[in-house]
Amino acid sequence: MKIFKGKGVSGTAAEGKIFIYKKRSAKIDCMESSDSEAEKQRFLLARDRSVEQLGRIYNDVLARLGEADAAIFEIHQMLIEDEDLNAAILGRIENDRLTAEYAVARTARDFAQMFSSMEDEYMRARAEDVKDISERIISNLTGEAKEENVLTERVIVCAEDLTPSETITLDKEKTLAFVTSRGSVNSHTAILARSMNIPAVTAVGEDFLKEISDGDEAIVDGSSGEIFLSPDEKTREGFYKRRAERIKQNELLQQLKGKENITLDGTKIEIFANIGSVGGADTALQNDAGGIGLFRSEFLYLESEDYPTEEQQLEAYKSVLEKMSGKRVIIRTLDIGADKQADYFGLKREENPALGLRAIRLCLTRPEIFRTQLRALYRASVYGKLGIMFPMIASVWEVEKILEICNEIKLELKAEGIRYSESVSLGIMIETPAAALVSDKLARLVDFFSVGTNDLTQYTLACDRLEPELEKFVDPHHEAVLSLIRMSAQNAHRHGKWIGICGELAADLSLTETFLRMGIDELSVTPAFILPLREAVRKIDLRA
Ligand code: PEP
Ligand code: MG
Repeated sequence: MKIFKGKGVSGTAAEGKIFIYKKRSAKIDCMESSDSEAEKQRFLLARDRSVEQLGRIYNDVLARLGEADAAIFEIHQMLIEDEDLNAAILGRIENDRLTAEYAVARTARDFAQMFSSMEDEYMRARAEDVKDISERIISNLTGEAKEENVLTERVIVCAEDLTPSETITLDKEKTLAFVTSRGSVNSHTAILARSMNIPAVTAVGEDFLKEISDGDEAIVDGSSGEIFLSPDEKTREGFYKRRAERIKQNELLQQLKGKENITLDGTKIEIFANIGSVGGADTALQNDAGGIGLFRSEFLYLESEDYPTEEQQLEAYKSVLEKMSGKRVIIRTLDIGADKQADYFGLKREENPALGLRAIRLCLTRPEIFRTQLRALYRASVYGKLGIMFPMIASVWEVEKILEICNEIKLELKAEGIRYSESVSLGIMIETPAAALVSDKLARLVDFFSVGTNDLTQYTLACDRLEPELEKFVDPHHEAVLSLIRMSAQNAHRHGKWIGICGELAADLSLTETFLRMGIDELSVTPAFILPLREAVRKIDLRA
C-alpha cells in the first residue's frame, strides 16, 4: 500500500479503480498565417460555437444541479465574449499575423498570468477559467470534437487538473471520486465536487500521477485528503465502516430535505449554517440550510497576506448573498485576536489574549479597518438579505458607537452615489456574560441576538476554551450558561427581537428541546449538522 496526501476538498471516502483522465489535446501545429481576414473569421466562428456549447451546458447543469453550479458556465460565456479578450486575440491575428489557434493560446496565457498574479484568491482561481475557455475555442478551431472522457464503469478520476467543464461533463453516476495533482480548494472544480457530493482531493503532488496506472485499486478520503493506493485489509475495513455511516447519513438527508423544522406540536425554528468561506454557501445550500447564521468573515483576513481591500471583501460578501438568493445571510464583522492572529495586524503580545484586544474592541480601536469592512458589507447589501453581526459585545456604549459608525458609512455611501440596502438588519453576539446581563438594554438597540456559546461558556466559567487540561471544568450545559441564554431570549422577545444560537452548542441534540422551550428562534450549525438537527426538532413535542 502507498499513501498520498493532498487537500481534502469534498465529501467522504470512495473505493474503486483509477481512471487517468485524458486531456483534450490543444496541440497547435501552425503558428503563422498568410490570411489574417480568414483567420479572424475562423476565430469568430469557433468563438460563437463555444458560446453555444456553453449555453447548452449551462441549461443542462441548471436542470441537474441548480443555479449555483450552472453560474460558472454563464461566467465562461461572458468571459469568451469579453471585449478586451476578443480585441487582444483579433489584434494578435491582425498585427502579429498569428493563426487563430495560436492567437487564442497566447492571449489566454497572458490573461491567465494576469489572474494568477492577483492578490485575491478567488480571482487567482479564475486563471483556470481562462484556460478552460481557450481550450474549448481551440478544440473548436482544430475541428477536434470536444472529446469527453467516456466512463464505462465506476472509477476514481485522476488528472493533473480538471477544469469546471471537464468536471461537470463527466458522468456523475460513474465518478466515484476526483483526485488532481494540482488545484486549489477554492477553485470552481472543488466547489462543483462539493455540490455534486463527490469525494475530491486536490494538490496531491506531481509524483502521484507517475505512480498510478489505469485500473489500480485505491481508496480516496475526501475529508482527510488521503489516498491509499492498493489499500491493505485494515484500511479497507476502516473504509467500509465509514461507508456504512455515510449511507445512513445519506438516507437521512434524502428523507428530510425540503421538510420544515417543525416540532410535533407545530413550533417552528430556523436552522441556518455556519460558514467560513464563500464556498461554504454551496455546502449550506446542499444541506438545505434556511440561511447563513454565521459567516466568520475573519477567515478572509486570515487567508490573506495583508488587509483585504474593500473591493475584495465586496466580492466575497456579494458572492455569498447571491448564492443564497434572498435567504438571510448574517455576516459577522472581523473577530480577530485571541487565537485568531494575522501578523500584518501587528498586534502586541498580550498576557491574556482571550481577554484582550479582540473582535469589536479591535474594530473600535482601529476604526479604519472596521470602516472598510462596513463599506464592503453595505455595498454588498443590495445583492440579498444581509444581516451584520458584531462579536464580543460587553457594553451598551459599544453598540451605540457601532450604530453611529454604521450611520456615517451609509451617509458616506449616499454622498458618493453608491447603492446600499436600507433593510440591512444589525445584530450582536451574546458571548460575554456582561452582554447577557444587559441584554434588556441591548435588545432595544439591535434587530437580533445570536448566542456564541463557545465564548459565552469560556467567559462564564472562566475556562480557556483552548486549554485541553481544563476540559473537565468546561461544561457548556452549566446552569449559569443556560440561564444567561434564557435571560437573553426573554429580553430579546420582550422587545420584539429574534434570537439565535451560533456556537457549537446549537448542534447539541441533547439541548434542542431546552432551546425550543426557551423560545430560541434560530439555530446555526455546521452544514453537516443541519439535517440531523431537523430530524431531532421534528421528534420533539413541547406539549409533553
Ligand atoms: C462562539 O463564540 O460561540 C462563536 C460562534 O464564535 P467563535 O467560535 O468564532 O469565537
Ligand atoms: Mg466567539
